[in-house]
Amino acid sequence: MARGQQKIQSQQKNAKKQSGQKKKQGHDQKAAAKAALIYTCTVCRTQMPDPKTFKQHFESKHPKTPLPPELADVQA
Ligand SMILES: [Zn+2]
Repeated sequence: MARGQQKIQSQQKNAKKQSGQKKKQGHDQKAAAKAALIYTCTVCRTQMPDPKTFKQHFESKHPKTPLPPELADVQA
């Protein structure tokens, strides 16, 4: 009897712990996305979040324009 009671109590304890761990996350995604758009195409002014995307954009949209030096060693 006492054993079964203990089990239930510990299960309730665990449930409480887990629900307390949720929260956090979400929020601030817009600000983060805005801050991430840091690469601006020198030709058409399109903004991109990372050098890889920038290089792919540059190579497909402006193949005749020389690659900016900061993209020369980017692995796309
Ligand atoms: Zn461009």
